[in-house]
Amino acid sequence: MSHNAESTAFRSALEVIRAVEPRVADAISAELADQRESLKLIASENYASPATLLAMGNWFSDKYAEGTVGRRFYAGCQNVDTVEALAAEHARELFGAAHAYVQPHSGIDANLVAFWAILADRVESPALKKAQKRQVNDLTEAEWFALRRELGDQRMLGMSLDAGGHLTHGFRPNISGKMFDQRSYGTDPATGLIDYDKVAEAAREFRPLILVAGYSAYPRKVNFRIMREIADSVGATFMVDMAHFAGLVAGKVFTGDFDPVPHAHIVTTTTHKSLRGPRGGMVLCGPELADQVDRGCPMVLGGPLPHVMAAKAVALAEARRPDFADYASRIVDNAQALADGLLRRGASLVTGGTDNHLVLIDVSGYGLTGRQAEQALLDSGIVTNRNAVPQDPNGAWYTSGIRIGTPALTTRGLGAAEMDATAELIHTVLDRTTAGTGPDGAASKAKYVLDPAVAESVGKQAADLLTPFPLYPEVTLG
Ligand code: PLP
Repeated sequence: MSHNAESTAFRSALEVIRAVEPRVADAISAELADQRESLKLIASENYASPATLLAMGNWFSDKYAEGTVGRRFYAGCQNVDTVEALAAEHARELFGAAHAYVQPHSGIDANLVAFWAILADRVESPALKKAQKRQVNDLTEAEWFALRRELGDQRMLGMSLDAGGHLTHGFRPNISGKMFDQRSYGTDPATGLIDYDKVAEAAREFRPLILVAGYSAYPRKVNFRIMREIADSVGATFMVDMAHFAGLVAGKVFTGDFDPVPHAHIVTTTTHKSLRGPRGGMVLCGPELADQVDRGCPMVLGGPLPHVMAAKAVALAEARRPDFADYASRIVDNAQALADGLLRRGASLVTGGTDNHLVLIDVSGYGLTGRQAEQALLDSGIVTNRNAVPQDPNGAWYTSGIRIGTPALTTRGLGAAEMDATAELIHTVLDRTTAGTGPDGAASKAKYVLDPAVAESVGKQAADLLTPFPLYPEVTLG
C-alpha cells in the first residue's frame, strides 16, 4: 500500500466522508475506477493534478467574498484576497494579459461577464451604466424598460453552431440568444475552413457590436489578427472564447496570429479543458475593459468560489512550468497522429485533419448517425461525443459527427503509437456497426447493430492500451 502524500490525502478524505455518507465516498472511489478504465476522447475534458484537486477540498468553500481583491462586501477576506490575487497574477503572466478576472464559475459565466462588460463600455445608455454600477434599484420603471429594449437591439456575429461555434455565442438555447440579435458566419462548404472574406462581408452587412471567435468543434487554428482587422473595419469589439484551446495558448503552441490575447479586446476561457485546471472560467482583457469586467459579481455571478480560485492559482502555476509547453505540443501531435490514423483507414474528417486538440469524424461515410456511432463506441469502451458537422442533415440531436480530442489521453502519457492503435479501434467499431431499424421496420437514427463480440474485443484492447499509462499513478486508495 502506498504512503505517499497524495494517497494519504485522498484516502483520509474518503475515510472522513465515509463516516457521514458512505454512498458518497463509494461514488467518489467508483468515479476514479471508471475514469481509470475509460479511453477518454472527450475533447473538452481532462484530468487535473492532485494538487489542483486538493486545493478545492477545504474551508475556502465556506467563505463569502463578493467584490474584488481589497474591495469586498464581506469582512475577513484577506486569505481569499491572497488566492484570487495569485490566480490573477499567474493568469496575467501566463497569457501576457494586462488584466485577469478569475471569478467566473464556468465558461458560460465568463462569457456573460464579457458580454455585460462590452455592453456597459459600448452602449451609450445612462440606464445601463447605472445597472452596471450596482445602482439598478435606482432605475425608474421607464428607464428599466428602455434599457431592456436598447439591449435587445444589440448585435453579435459569431461562428455558427454546425461549424463548431458554441451555444453561448448568441444562440437561442442560451441567454445570449435572448440578449443579442445574432447572426453567424460558417465555414467554406468545400474546405470546411473559415472563409475570412465571408466573415468580413457578413460583418459589413450586419454591423455587429461584438464579433466573437472561438469554438468547441472546429479542428483548425483561427487567424485572430485577421479577425481583429474585420472587427476594427466595422467598429466591433472583438471577443475570443478560447475555452477549448486555452492550454494550447498557454503552452505556446498557438503564437503570433493564432494567439488571441494580443489581438482581442477581451478573451474568455474555461479553466478545465486543455488548460487542465479546476472547473471554472476566466476573463482576460486590457485596462479599458478591466473595471467593467471586475463588476462580474454581482452583475452576472453570485459570490466567488474561493476554493476554486485557489485551485485555479495552483493549475495556472503548473501551466507556467516549462513541461506544460511540452504537454501542449504533445496534445497537438497526438491529435494529428489520431487524424492520420483515421484517414489512412478511410475515415472522412471535417477539414481533412486537425491543427489543434480535436478531430471531427463525419460518420455518414460509415452509414451511421453521430448518435449511433457514439453509443457503439461507448459499448466498446471508447468515450466520445456526437457533434454536428457543417450543414448537418441530421441536426444537433442525432448529428453526423463524432468529436474526439486528445488533452485527457495526453495527460495520461499516451503518444503517437497509441493514437494509431486508437484510430484502429475507432475504425473497427464504426466499420462493424450498422444502422438499425425501429419497431415498424423503418430506418432509425438511434438504433444500431454491433456484434457484442466485436465490442468486447475492442473494449479489451482499449483497456490494454491504457494499462501502461495509469491515471493518477500517485494515488492508491487501498
Ligand atoms: N465556451 C466554449 C467554446 C465551450 O466549448 C464551452 C463548453 O463546452 C463553454 C464556453 C461553456 O463552458 P462551461 O461548461 O464551463 O460553462
